[in-house]
Amino acid sequence: MITVHDLTKKYARTTAVDHISFSVSKGQIVGFLGPNGAGKTTTMRMLTCFFPPTAGEATVAGFDVLTQPLEARRHIGYLPETPPLYLEMETVDYLRFVGQLKGLSGEELNRRVAFVCERCAVGDVKHKLMGKLSKGYRQRVGLAQAIIHNPDVLILDEPTAGLDPRQIIETRELIRSLAGEHTIILSTHILPEVEQTCEQVIIINKGKLVATDSVENLQARFRGVESILIDIAARTGAFSAPSIQERLEQVAGVSRVVCRDQQANAAVFEVESDKGRLVRGDLARLVVEAGWDLNELRPAAMSLEEIFLQLTGAESAAASTSATPENNA
Ligand code: ADP
Repeated sequence: MITVHDLTKKYARTTAVDHISFSVSKGQIVGFLGPNGAGKTTTMRMLTCFFPPTAGEATVAGFDVLTQPLEARRHIGYLPETPPLYLEMETVDYLRFVGQLKGLSGEELNRRVAFVCERCAVGDVKHKLMGKLSKGYRQRVGLAQAIIHNPDVLILDEPTAGLDPRQIIETRELIRSLAGEHTIILSTHILPEVEQTCEQVIIINKGKLVATDSVENLQARFRGVESILIDIAARTGAFSAPSIQERLEQVAGVSRVVCRDQQANAAVFEVESDKGRLVRGDLARLVVEAGWDLNELRPAAMSLEEIFLQLTGAESAAASTSATPENNA
């Protein structure tokens, strides 16, 4: 649905996007990640035909953004970081206006306006001036205008920026529910957002592509050794994390045990095993036979944040993940 080949954009002195290539299949929802200044907005602007690439090609729904921008645009819905709303207009009038700009009219326009109002849950503010809407509603109206012409592709730039935690959850749910009907590229610097919302990730840094893969594959690729988190508790008797650790270390195939958290009568250990060696069953048996409680046993996947740090360098990632309160939402 989207193909990008050697796409490049040079400003006067900066190469903002430097020969990036990727593709996105129909119905997918893809997180477009990178520290500030990585080139995300510039890439999106080329995909939405806002300005042409300096070199390289991109197609959206089969149309070349350079040579067939009108056709490409017809297949794209775009939500910029700040939704393009006319604050003195009523929601429904605005949606009708955008629909007309996108070539809709008559019964079809009525049908689409009713549909997007329902789909984006803005029906109850239909006749409110947009200047009086909360940020969450404004974002939903922004999404409603982006899908009014039923585009194949939706391009969303930081869609949850500036929203409160409840609005963030609602907006993410809405975006997730739009995938399938639409192919979605979502730019964000909020890593948990990608983990919760997207199937695929594209990571760029300083204009260059550094990874494009599923979250799962990235985690598998970065996990050198099998690592397991095991949460053990003891209801009776003395609880000694060091002696439990020692017992875990003696399990065949275990190469390293680190105590990650310790309470009065419970502890969490990270257990690494030799590659290809499955030790979960033996660990579980040891815990049960020793009379302890097994609270949890799960693979310790590397978080996207850790992967992002490795790929983009700690400095830029720290800057881009600590700046806003939404990161913790
Ligand atoms: P991101 O969206 O990932 O934060 P941008 O695409 O906005 O990154 O910017 C990529 C690089 O291009 C940055 O170094 C930025 O300073 C530069 N840049 C962006 N827009 C312009 C412009 N209009 N003129 C010159 N340089 C620009």
